Amino acid sequence: MTDEQTAPPIPQPVIIPRSEHGISRADISDNALKVLYRLKNAGYQAYMVGGGVRDLSLGREPKDFDVATDARPEDVKALFRNCRLIGRRFRLAHVHFGPEIIEVATFRALHDPTNGDVEGDVAMEDGRILRDNVYGTVEEDAMRRDFTINSLYYNIADFSIVDFANGVPDLKAGLLRMIGDPEARYREDPVRMLRAVRFAAKLGFRIEEGSAKPIPEMAELLEHIPQARLFEEVLKLLMGGQGAQTFELLRRYRLFGHLFPEADRFLEQEEDGLWLRFINAALRNTDQRIADDKPVTPAFLFAALLWPVVVDLQQTYQDDGEDEAPALQNACTDALERQVQRVAIPKRFSLPMREIFTLQSRLERYGLGAGKRALRLLGHPRFRAAYDFLLLRAEVGDAPQELADWWTRFQDSNPGERVEMAGSEGGPRRKRRRRRRKPAASE
Ligand code: ATP
Ligand code: MG
Repeated sequence: MTDEQTAPPIPQPVIIPRSEHGISRADISDNALKVLYRLKNAGYQAYMVGGGVRDLSLGREPKDFDVATDARPEDVKALFRNCRLIGRRFRLAHVHFGPEIIEVATFRALHDPTNGDVEGDVAMEDGRILRDNVYGTVEEDAMRRDFTINSLYYNIADFSIVDFANGVPDLKAGLLRMIGDPEARYREDPVRMLRAVRFAAKLGFRIEEGSAKPIPEMAELLEHIPQARLFEEVLKLLMGGQGAQTFELLRRYRLFGHLFPEADRFLEQEEDGLWLRFINAALRNTDQRIADDKPVTPAFLFAALLWPVVVDLQQTYQDDGEDEAPALQNACTDALERQVQRVAIPKRFSLPMREIFTLQSRLERYGLGAGKRALRLLGHPRFRAAYDFLLLRAEVGDAPQELADWWTRFQDSNPGERVEMAGSEGGPRRKRRRRRRKPAASE
């Protein structure tokens, strides 16, 4: 492929005048335009950059609009009443317009990692950027962005697009190419590997060979990334509407195991592919809901990713003599504890996850006419999520289909029918049957 052998980009910009590109001001949010114009009128340079230019060039609707400028964060703050400065690692100005936030970043300079100023504006560790607040020129700023297609600048002064990194040809070819030396750039910020996969899935792009090759070997660098930042990235990866495709790429590039190590172990070692089908079903379910504009919660997906671990731990504890209910409780606690070593899960999601897990055993025990407690379960605030979870389990054979169907009919029935369906306490109480699935719980 000749387009993959292009020499490393040099900051000799190609300027595409307004007459030769398709981005019109009508496509840009009024608030982003307001920010761009106010910066320009105050004498600063102001560009729309990143996803805004990339997505509009592809005829897609951008998720948000990012602005780059030579104004310092404090200068931006002075221009906008509704502005807040955020971030320590990477200081930014957020200009708020109701629900819309325009992110304004000051041009960053390139820096020499051996010259790290640990106390001040830049901090590096093992080639990783801990803090990056040295300001520079627009050319320098372009070189330190991640992918060539993310480094296109729409200039509000003349409505041209400025391409410093050969991004336009890559955009046309559908290629994600890291700017500069991919290995060094991944070492600076390992999250860029996740971003490569995210954009590849979202845009249907290919990761250019030189940018793709180092990923599996460097994936373990993700272990240095704070758990809270990884949580934010995982949300974008799995809740962006292309979760199933993203998951496949995460596994192909050996990134998944560094985000969900316990779940990955099951996927790698299982022979019948049940958990892979289950997780895929959950991801497709979320993708479809997003496509249908229905509400989605990360608790559901995270629960699906941890379910194989919970099931196995519960079985281990029961084998050790614990009763079913405490074994499940302990399994939830342990599975969550292990997971948050890698990717943080805020309480507002881990509590519902735990409920989805524990409700599974209640759905199993109270269904099929096992008694009145089925009626009360319907009123549980997490019933709906737990029922949806049961449907997925039944779909792949992890729960009896007749049980799932019973709960479906039960909900669709009127109150009188429900009482009849619920039956009496002495009904056919179901025992949890589990086929043990290796691998055994980790040390
Ligand atoms: P989207 O908003 O659709 O997720 P985006 O490309 O706009 O995609 P943002 O996270 O909003 O992504 O970041 C805006 C821009 O900032 C990117 O396009 C890229 O130029 C730059 N950028 C973001 N994160 C990094 C990073 N980790 N390393 C280098 N550049 C980055
Ligand atoms: Mg963006």
